[in-house]
Amino acid sequence: MHGTGGDRWLPVHDPALGRVYAEVADGDAADVDAAVTAAAGAFPDWAAQPNDRRARWLERLADALEARTDDFAHAEARDGGKPFALARDVEIPRAVANLRFFAHAATQFSSESHHGQAGLNYTLRTPLGVVGTISPWNLPLYLFTWKIAPALAAGNTVVAKPSEVTPATATLLGELAAEIGFPAGALNIVHGRGAEVGEAIVAHPGIRAISFTGSTAVGRRIAGIAGPLLKKLSLELGGKNPTLVFADSDWQAHLDTLVRSAFQNSGQICLCGSRILVERRIYNAFREAFVEAALALRIGDPMDSDARLGPLVSQAHFDKVLAAIARARDEGATVLCGGEALQRPGWFVAPTVLEGLGPDCATNREEIFGPVATLQPFDDDAQALALANAGDYGLAASLWTRDLDRAHRLAAALRAGIVWINTWLMRDLRTPFGGMGQSGMGREGGLEAMRFFTEPKNVGIQLSS
Ligand code: NAD
Repeated sequence: MHGTGGDRWLPVHDPALGRVYAEVADGDAADVDAAVTAAAGAFPDWAAQPNDRRARWLERLADALEARTDDFAHAEARDGGKPFALARDVEIPRAVANLRFFAHAATQFSSESHHGQAGLNYTLRTPLGVVGTISPWNLPLYLFTWKIAPALAAGNTVVAKPSEVTPATATLLGELAAEIGFPAGALNIVHGRGAEVGEAIVAHPGIRAISFTGSTAVGRRIAGIAGPLLKKLSLELGGKNPTLVFADSDWQAHLDTLVRSAFQNSGQICLCGSRILVERRIYNAFREAFVEAALALRIGDPMDSDARLGPLVSQAHFDKVLAAIARARDEGATVLCGGEALQRPGWFVAPTVLEGLGPDCATNREEIFGPVATLQPFDDDAQALALANAGDYGLAASLWTRDLDRAHRLAAALRAGIVWINTWLMRDLRTPFGGMGQSGMGREGGLEAMRFFTEPKNVGIQLSS
């Protein structure tokens, strides 16, 4: 089930200590090839299983995972530095929910027929074959299952690459699948580096489609390789999401959510709001309350039950976030709180709130993916919208107002694949998920994912009159 990488191994770090605690196979193109061969061999049987039998396998995997929630949460806390409680209460349950949701989707997904214009048309939707999934480190098991579940549910076999930065829970899931006797070759996990294993998956002629979540730079590179091969591609990329706070909103009552929306998982969620736009009438009051709440966030060891924030995931990412804060200072930002690393082992950065920067500076245009948010004031709806839409990304936005008319008008005008009104990170797995512009191409979630992982074929029949 796992790429061996021969005898080559990569170090895996505990971000709370900044130390190596494990090793993971440093796979290569030969491992990918072996995985594709296994997946191709398993495909005819897996695709031919009745939908409810495939669904049952996904349910069994979900049950087995749910029974081990604490172990998986512990692994994810250690591997990625996220608070154990967040992993146990939110992220591992969401991985279970992904498997269950697409188990149900397997039994309920059906195709259309059309009648009345020209004969009878119906659409066959068949699995693609062997598909590749590549996922990032920030929500390791959640995003891993978000891809493999619909791929398997639709009847494909999968070659999946988790991030080499956080490989622990995908490894455990592979072991769990083997333990429950999941059909051999249906799910293949290959560990290793992006440039090696990831690119081998993207380029492999036996892989029909690639579902990728990660950075915009890597997404662009993958598109460059997959494009000429005419591979089906889904790209979920970076974000620089705006949070629009209007004076008429109930922002005081929602302050906890607003703060979470900037800093959950230390800002390492593609959906975090990192540009907070605040109506000028409440700007000073909001700034004071928001900074006070950010200062009150307890940062600590992921296993500490009081910790709301853990460390950043890696030395490289820690360096990148600190460099972004230094750049913000150079651009003239005022640091209202944070702005530095904690003096302790591990890769901890204090929640940082900045002001004084306009929409054109790099700090407000480039994804930082850390506990760093900027504040900008606006005077009216038009200016709020212009600030929100300034930039190249278009993943998510959250909008805080009690004015229904404004809420719906702005929701339609915001350039984002997801808009939340008076909430943040509200997820219904049936909804289309993804972004526009530099945030990606295609959508995941619900039927969108089932459609992505199937090939539609129109069959037209002439009916005699
Ligand atoms: P990344 O792009 O560095 O890596 C993502 C995955 O791609 C990893 O498994 C990596 O090994 C692999 N990879 C790296 N180079 C590759 C290559 N040349 N070919 C094929 N695969 C390669 O991203 P990351 O640092 O792991 O994750 C953070 C990024 O992910 C952020 O930009 C964040 O916004 C984005 N993200 C987006 C979403 C979304 O749904 N839009 C969700 C979560 C994270």
